[in-house]
Amino acid sequence: MSFVFAPAPMAVIPVDGEKDLYFPVHRVYGVARNYAAVNAALGEKTPPSIFLKPADAVVPVDKHGVTLDFPVATEDLHHEIELVVAIGKGGKNIPVEEAKNHIYGYAVGLDLTRRDLQRASASKGMPWDSAKAFDESAPVTHIKPAARTPEPENLDIWLYINNEKIQSGNTNEMIWGVAEQIAYLSTLWELKPGDLIMTGTPAGVGAIKRGDALEGGVQGVGVLKVNFKA
Ligand code: MN
Repeated sequence: MSFVFAPAPMAVIPVDGEKDLYFPVHRVYGVARNYAAVNAALGEKTPPSIFLKPADAVVPVDKHGVTLDFPVATEDLHHEIELVVAIGKGGKNIPVEEAKNHIYGYAVGLDLTRRDLQRASASKGMPWDSAKAFDESAPVTHIKPAARTPEPENLDIWLYINNEKIQSGNTNEMIWGVAEQIAYLSTLWELKPGDLIMTGTPAGVGAIKRGDALEGGVQGVGVLKVNFKA
């Protein structure tokens, strides 16, 4: 086979604690408005809003952290610290009871959001892509296999900016739990090994300024350090 130009390198994330073992990223799904404390106004449990980020929006981040350029085209970049689920076994119409058998592991991610663009799109009833799916919009820690990770239903999740705690919550506040998210997504798409799910963010989202140092984590999963250039 020959190509008209060199194919883009595959997006991969190292597996935590393993030498030279990588998780190949297929797609990145995001679940919006999934923590009760942020969405009390929504009341009843309605199907979640789903968005996607391209696989190459993922920035793998090792324990030393990463420094990113401040994204273009926004003056209101928001942080959303999230538990990331890494799918190891695909499927369609996966029952909730079987959903966790499809998980390879977990990571900590930032669902970076150009909130000003999102508000502008939402106000016109238009899609969120420019707000959610931009380059380097998904920094993610190395993936920790599920065998070495606690069950995902009751884990503290937090984010510090410049050493001040800004976001704080627990995965037990999720409106749609991890297994329910997998089951629901698999009714809309055929899930594939390599899919990532960004599972929503707890209370406290807000703006990131140039020069900020972010450190977020999920209990038992990992710590994510991301700095933005001044
Ligand atoms: Mn999010």
